Amino acid sequence: MTAQLTPLEEALAHLLSMAPVITETERLPLTESFGRILAQDYLALADVPPADNSSVDGYALRAEDYVPGQALFVSDRIPAGSAPKPLEPGTAARIFTGSEIPAGADTVIMQERVEVTDNGILIDGDVKADRNIRRRGQDLAKGSLALGKGTKIRAQEMGLLASLGLAEVTLVKKLRVAILSTGDELVDPGKPLGPGQIYNTNRFTLLALLAEAGCDVVLCDTLRDTRTETRETLERAATQADLIITSGGVSVGEEDHVRAVLEASGELSLWRLAIKPGKPLAFGSIKGTPVFGLPGNPASVLVTFLMVAMPYIRTCQGRSRIHPAGQKLPAAFNITSSSVRREFVRARLESVNGQTQISAYPNQSSGVLSSACWADGLAVIPEQGTVAEGSLITYFPFTELLS
Ligand code: AMP
Ligand code: MG
Repeated sequence: MTAQLTPLEEALAHLLSMAPVITETERLPLTESFGRILAQDYLALADVPPADNSSVDGYALRAEDYVPGQALFVSDRIPAGSAPKPLEPGTAARIFTGSEIPAGADTVIMQERVEVTDNGILIDGDVKADRNIRRRGQDLAKGSLALGKGTKIRAQEMGLLASLGLAEVTLVKKLRVAILSTGDELVDPGKPLGPGQIYNTNRFTLLALLAEAGCDVVLCDTLRDTRTETRETLERAATQADLIITSGGVSVGEEDHVRAVLEASGELSLWRLAIKPGKPLAFGSIKGTPVFGLPGNPASVLVTFLMVAMPYIRTCQGRSRIHPAGQKLPAAFNITSSSVRREFVRARLESVNGQTQISAYPNQSSGVLSSACWADGLAVIPEQGTVAEGSLITYFPFTELLS
């Protein structure tokens, strides 16, 4: 194992090629599908909407039938949810938003333009065909692909599946991920801190990240910094989870046992990436279960999870989109990087003189997690690159990195 830093793309190509795609599926009520991944394509079994309907409250008629200044008799009333009978020629029908258009009508006049008289309706302005009608199948035509396999279900996908009439959907089984934090200095929140101790932060960051990623979590106890306990706990976690994510203990100190255990008792296939923060990231396996050894610093955990573990998890989930696209926006700061590591800075978008720019949190130390709370995303400082104020750099919103 060399101590060379692996470029991110190379590391990702390696990781993704090894990611086991989940093949088990489960059928669940649509109400329980939020945040889950579709295990199959869904085609529209019928047109959505199933019939032409009105987009306004008003009057349906045949445009040709209206003679300006002559009242048009209202022969019918069509509430939403009723099946209209054909429109009597030379008349109009009272209609409501979502009501089906009666056969024989070719336009709907909104009620704000209509004066109701004893003899019928008078219309203000032009009467043209094909107005205010939502056409049958305009959302989805029968037989067309509504949502593809590998799509993550957000609110809108949940609604669309309902519009197809589905009460149950077939989903990819959740990935089970074990979280393991290492460090003799760590204390769980709720207990007093002794000298030299800090609270275990990463356990909670990872718990929430994995929930957002749609994974089931196996929470392991905090690990003491010994070789034996590290090995035993990793081996136990390997039997309980599809993937293990550890934090801490992957650096070069003699108390850093995770990488050493992977090397000695499992497999270490990647160590040290050309990214900042997150250089000591390790990847390997124990008893055949893949292990991400994330660094210990809280901001490094967030960055490495988002930039490295998330694409891997998406691949396991059979997602159709693996890599975030990001967006190019002007920087509001100057940075010259002399490092061979690509830097991910905690950043957010701010409006400067009416222009959207990327602002970076002033303290980018990997121990400063408040930088990530201030931020809405990560901005990329290229390896050995110079970013001058106004130059375009890549920005990834957290929402996209976690989508
Ligand atoms: P390590 O890689 O184990 O040397 O950890 C690097 C830094 O991250 C040290 O300052 C640790 O105290 C800190 N750290 C490690 N794990 C955690 C954790 N779970 N919560 C908060 N800080 C941590
Ligand atoms: Mg440690």
